[in-house]
Amino acid sequence: MALMWNRTVDWDADDWRRSAACRNTEPDLFFPVGTTGPAVDQIDAAKGVCRSCEALEPCLDFALATNQESGVWGGTSEEERRKLRKAWLAARRSQRTF
Ligand code: SF4
Repeated sequence: MALMWNRTVDWDADDWRRSAACRNTEPDLFFPVGTTGPAVDQIDAAKGVCRSCEALEPCLDFALATNQESGVWGGTSEEERRKLRKAWLAARRSQRTF
């Protein structure tokens, strides 16, 4: 059975991945193991790449919309994104018209 995906939000309307600054970096950099010790430096290094990325905003939108729990996305750590996602979900709920 083929998987189907119906786009319901605009975050993936543009092909933002083409301008992703992380395209030519080591993917492991963005997926540190843990949040302490060497992982802190790794997270900072990944965020440094994100700061120079033209796709930061759509990347973060994608991560929030698809609930990416692991890794650094859109210049945010896992913990930062958990907090942002609560506010993002609340904002989406308040924008709905019934
Ligand atoms: S914001 Fe960071 S994780 Fe997202 S595409 Fe850009 S470099 Fe990659």
